[in-house]
Amino acid sequence: AGGGGGGGEDCCVKVAVHVRPLIADEKLQGCKDCVTVVPGNPQVQIGAHSFTFDHVYGSTGSPASSIFEECIAPLVDGLFQGYNATVLAYGQTGSGKTYTMGTGFKDGFQTGIIPHVMDTIFSKIETLKQQAEFQLQVSFIEILKEEVRDLLDPSSLNKPETPNGHATKAPVPGKPPVQIRESSDGVITLAGTTEVIVRSLKEMTACLEQGSLIRATGSTNMNNQSSRSHAIFTITVEQMRKLNPIFPGEAASETLNEDYLCAKLHLVDLAGSERAKRTGSDGMRFKEGVHINRGLLALGNVISALGDEKKRKEGVHVPYRDSKLTRLLQDSLGGNSRTVMIACISPADINAEESLNTLKYANRAR
Ligand code: ADP
Ligand code: MG
Repeated sequence: AGGGGGGGEDCCVKVAVHVRPLIADEKLQGCKDCVTVVPGNPQVQIGAHSFTFDHVYGSTGSPASSIFEECIAPLVDGLFQGYNATVLAYGQTGSGKTYTMGTGFKDGFQTGIIPHVMDTIFSKIETLKQQAEFQLQVSFIEILKEEVRDLLDPSSLNKPETPNGHATKAPVPGKPPVQIRESSDGVITLAGTTEVIVRSLKEMTACLEQGSLIRATGSTNMNNQSSRSHAIFTITVEQMRKLNPIFPGEAASETLNEDYLCAKLHLVDLAGSERAKRTGSDGMRFKEGVHINRGLLALGNVISALGDEKKRKEGVHVPYRDSKLTRLLQDSLGGNSRTVMIACISPADINAEESLNTLKYANRAR
């Protein structure tokens, strides 16, 4: 829940762990569950290693709705008060990142975080529409080998129309290369990506579906492709207050004195965290591994710099520029914005080493 009405005081990076159940494939291989979640404690154990996080979700109860209520809903609230936010799903391939985020098609599409966020945004707007006018935009991109790919680019669909006939802001013909830009007041924008203005839950869902589809079919080797890339679904909420600027019950918050607010929420399904195994003879592969590590490495360094109060007070350099991923998220990680990292792990004993790596990585953020 976090104290205070704003997003500024209560810092800044929260870390949750999501342990998925053993899946059929693991059971068939005879895997044992080697991860212990201590009930009532945000604590997780693998062998002799024990870690404490802000939240730990095992397979009991209803983790999906708890994750949303405890970790994500405060970020959506903040979005309506003008605070940027980022949700990151981290973990090895197969650990449940896509399931948890709801970025995929196959499973979890209805139960994941993103569909829940979308629902919540539209019901909030419904309750606030007397006081303000809203405009929502979404973009959906993928970063692979330090290159940004627009997942909502209508031309990727091999169809002449724009996605679902939506109004699109950016002209698409000729596919200009996507560029990350920073304005003088520190706002990061992506030049050359499609920003879709959405007016309904249905339209927003269509963007998520289309982007997920393009992501999955973009390569002949789809599993590899999507496990090596970061997928970033971004929702921007713009609001213009109508004449009476005071929201009932929220008069005390000084952040609400402005007539115009704009904030964005990045929902990030990160590349698989496993090390590039067996390099093979294929040089290309190795390069992909190196680049992916660059994004995850930079993210780890940024988050650890942000989480370390002593370092922050000393004004230590936060290395946002070390990767496309961190550069893109720069205005939504740290500062006034809120960040939640969800570390996803498999409970299977064959994955114990990678799960341990994931917990160590997530532990740096605290
Ligand atoms: P990742 O995106 O990290 O590679 P996925 O989200 O694709 O992993 O999950 C791998 C497999 O595990 C999928 O078959 C998915 O349905 C299943 N899975 C993941 N998380 C859960 C969960 N919490 N409950 C049940 N099945 C899950
Ligand atoms: Mg995935």
